[in-house]
Amino acid sequence: MPIGAGEHSASPADAAAPVVGVLALQGAFDRHRRHLESLGAHAPLVRQATDLDHLDAIVIPGGESTTMSHLLTTGGLFDELAARLTAGLPVLGTCAGMILCASAVLDGRDDQRCFGLIDLTVRRNGYGRQLESFEADLEITGETQPFHAVFIRAPYVQHAGTDVEVLATYEGIPVLARSGPCTVAAFHPELTDDTRVHEMFLRSLPAASLPTGTP
Ligand code: GLN
Repeated sequence: MPIGAGEHSASPADAAAPVVGVLALQGAFDRHRRHLESLGAHAPLVRQATDLDHLDAIVIPGGESTTMSHLLTTGGLFDELAARLTAGLPVLGTCAGMILCASAVLDGRDDQRCFGLIDLTVRRNGYGRQLESFEADLEITGETQPFHAVFIRAPYVQHAGTDVEVLATYEGIPVLARSGPCTVAAFHPELTDDTRVHEMFLRSLPAASLPTGTP
């Protein structure tokens, strides 16, 4: 049974529910928070280094990776977050969040930084002007029904390392991928009512941080 389904779902008041912070400096963070809470997780917003304490995982949302990189750096959060991510804090990075998690960024700003958590080279806005925004039904590994995905000025995966597990592709290019505790999506899984990408991420967390009753 998926996390959050039926009588086994945890309410956010459940002390055993995972605490999944949502980086909230800029971008599409609020819908991530709502998806996570609907699945029984706690989803505190993260804006400063002290907000990183006691997290079981974090979501880095879509938005603008150059702005997020700048705000993370000037706000003093970049190094603290990098240390925790490098130490294995599970992360779901979507769109701009995927860019921040990648190991190399093409067409970025010179001062743009990324965390290097997954062996991906991504090109910012790589689908080109005509396809700034598009939608597609994706086949996701382990899912029987397609996932309707919304892409907005999405990063294009130019190269994926051999240890990257590709979970979905669009026209042969990875758009959902995982490497250890780092999961990334080129699209915005928070923009539809379908919570399966968030469920998949919650299921990937160490057992101790899953909501009560999760199989
Ligand atoms: N193109 C944006 C960037 O470079 C990402 C767009 C998005 O997150 N929807 O960060």
